Amino acid sequence: MLKNSKIYVAGHRGMVGSAIVRKLQNEGFINIITRTSKELDLRSQMAVESFFEEEQPEYVFLAAAKVGGIQANNTFRAEFLYDNLMMEANIIHAAYRNGVEKLMFLGSSCIYPKLAPQPLKEEYLLTGPLEQTNEPYAIAKIAGIKLCEAYRDQYGCNFISVMPTNLYGYNDNYDLNNSHVLPALIRKFHEAKENGAPTVTVWGTGSPRREFLFADDLADACLYLMEHYNGRELVNIGTGEDITIKDLALLVKDVVQFEGGLEFDTTKPDGTPRKLMDVYKLHSLGYKHSTSLEEGISLAYADFKNKIVEV
Ligand code: GDP
Repeated sequence: MLKNSKIYVAGHRGMVGSAIVRKLQNEGFINIITRTSKELDLRSQMAVESFFEEEQPEYVFLAAAKVGGIQANNTFRAEFLYDNLMMEANIIHAAYRNGVEKLMFLGSSCIYPKLAPQPLKEEYLLTGPLEQTNEPYAIAKIAGIKLCEAYRDQYGCNFISVMPTNLYGYNDNYDLNNSHVLPALIRKFHEAKENGAPTVTVWGTGSPRREFLFADDLADACLYLMEHYNGRELVNIGTGEDITIKDLALLVKDVVQFEGGLEFDTTKPDGTPRKLMDVYKLHSLGYKHSTSLEEGISLAYADFKNKIVEV
């Protein structure tokens, strides 16, 4: 990629896309193109086709997706499947038709079977049934991986796929019903502290284990792989370290400096018992994350507080 290469970041308003744009800008890339969802509905094939014809991007980061936590995935099942399938299919096909040099598709760790051995190796894809709560989203993401593989096989496109673990960071979604666990906990502990509440309610039993990566580290990894990886196989992007939801809650409690206790609402689902990426491949390709979980939570919390002040 040259510093003046035309780079389209799909989903630049989201946590991942905005981190990728920030990273590209910091590295001196000067020809980044973006569109808001109002300007370009990625679910519309015609709109996406004419956008690519007009703009002729050379590189594409496909970070646009309908995303959400366990409850959102489980509630808006049709939207998670349809919106994500359409966006990926439209962008990948338009990238092929318009001779895009290279495309990176961003998936998710939930593509792996619910009961796959841990840590999750890339080769476990499609070896067993998926977690029920986010099956529609996972199926859409698996279709995206298969599109990249098929367009590479049939047309020789250099389309690569990366699978980030659970992410958090700047511009995260803090909606209590639809967000992922980490932003939800940041908000819950913050509000409990502000309101002098005695406890914070954590969903589920607290025993599931999850891995968390700071979104700016993901962006670093994406740029690194865009520049150094041309393989057909997907690449996991994570830290290789996981933590129980209970310990995560205690960590957030510390960062926020909430003095009260924790309660567990076991009427809420736990989801998959453990989700930890195997990052052997990522590390052997030469990338390792740099932000510790505690440091990342502090940065995310500062961002959250700034946003409240802005409102
Ligand atoms: P998942 O990784 O796809 O299961 O999605 P989430 O990030 O939404 O949830 C991860 C785990 O955190 C699940 O076991 C949830 O039950 C648990 N959890 C605990 N408290 C919360 C909360 O306030 N919000 C969310 N989304 N999850 C929570």
